[in-house]
Amino acid sequence: MPVYLDNAATTPVCPQAAQAALEAMTGGWGNPSSGYAPGQGAAARLREDRAAVAKALGCTPQELYFTSCGTEGDNWAIRAALEHGKRKGRHIVTSAIEHAAVLEPLKTLEAQGYEVTRLKPDRTGHIDPAELEEALRPDTVLVSLMLVNNELGTLQPVAQAAEAIRRKGCPALLHTDAVQAFLKVPFTPAELGVDLLTVSGHKIGAPKGIGAQYIRQGLRVPPLLLGGGQENGLRPGTEPTAQIAAFAAAVRRWEPEWPERIASRKEYALKALSAVPGLEIISAGEAPHICAVSLPGYPSELLVRDLSDKGVYVSSGSACHKGKPSHVFAALGLPKRTLAGVLRVSFSPESTQADVDALAAGLKEITETRIAMR
Ligand code: PLP
Repeated sequence: MPVYLDNAATTPVCPQAAQAALEAMTGGWGNPSSGYAPGQGAAARLREDRAAVAKALGCTPQELYFTSCGTEGDNWAIRAALEHGKRKGRHIVTSAIEHAAVLEPLKTLEAQGYEVTRLKPDRTGHIDPAELEEALRPDTVLVSLMLVNNELGTLQPVAQAAEAIRRKGCPALLHTDAVQAFLKVPFTPAELGVDLLTVSGHKIGAPKGIGAQYIRQGLRVPPLLLGGGQENGLRPGTEPTAQIAAFAAAVRRWEPEWPERIASRKEYALKALSAVPGLEIISAGEAPHICAVSLPGYPSELLVRDLSDKGVYVSSGSACHKGKPSHVFAALGLPKRTLAGVLRVSFSPESTQADVDALAAGLKEITETRIAMR
């Protein structure tokens, strides 16, 4: 049986999600905007699904907008905040360890004259809230800070960022990329004090191609697309009812005790992996499902390939940065050999101790059969 320990990249579609998608595609295929029975049936189902995802996120259904993915949500949030603050300034605060879905649009905006402050993490992968507060200016219109880092599993000070914005009387909107946090760590948008929040379905057992965006009630943002009136006119396009049904089914099946279960697997893994000769723990992460380790002297790409040959799947960092050194690990200021040997290991509720044992045994075998590079 292959061992899959790259659940931060994506998760297998759970049976409940696949079944819900099938039902929506076969029985419930009507267009929710149609006034006749099949359309109204699809609309009713959509309302239930929106309510289920909103409840899990801790917001009202009116504050939840379905998108096609986390990348879309991140891009939309950035654009929305800049439009919202266009008369107040052109300064943006973010971190150097955000996902490419935030960093890449910001790079383009910088080329268009926006000023971007990228806060660096400390050696443990955390952004200092005091530094964030210091970076805020009267012309800061957006703070985008992820809730859980996708390569380190570290929790970032989003609630403190909200307090700092308030304390300083800064006009900035606060966006958080909660793609890795959703259902894994407890939060609600209101508790965090964010204006915009992004999640994605394929990290929690739904298929790829569905996400959701929280937009605080009362906040006026420009539409992402122009078209029919779906999603309150802000994200038009006939709703992907099968994807949404699958997303809601994945959310409904999630058990409240799963984060604790996942965390105990990670704890077991950190112990088992520590016994691999030369292995260093880079980040144990506060989020239950992600940790990062390194085997200095063994290039990550080679480790990933050798482990894959043994039927064990982990990643050398974010799946979106294949082949390139990860900007996240680079931002930690790790020594070169440590940086080159980094692996991300990430867990799901289905991960077992046997999975971890197979990973530890695979790594041990590699250290016994391969000669470390200098
Ligand atoms: N943000 C974070 C933190 C992620 O981990 C990912 C996916 O890896 C994304 C955004 C992008 O989400 P999606 O793959 O749904 O576009």
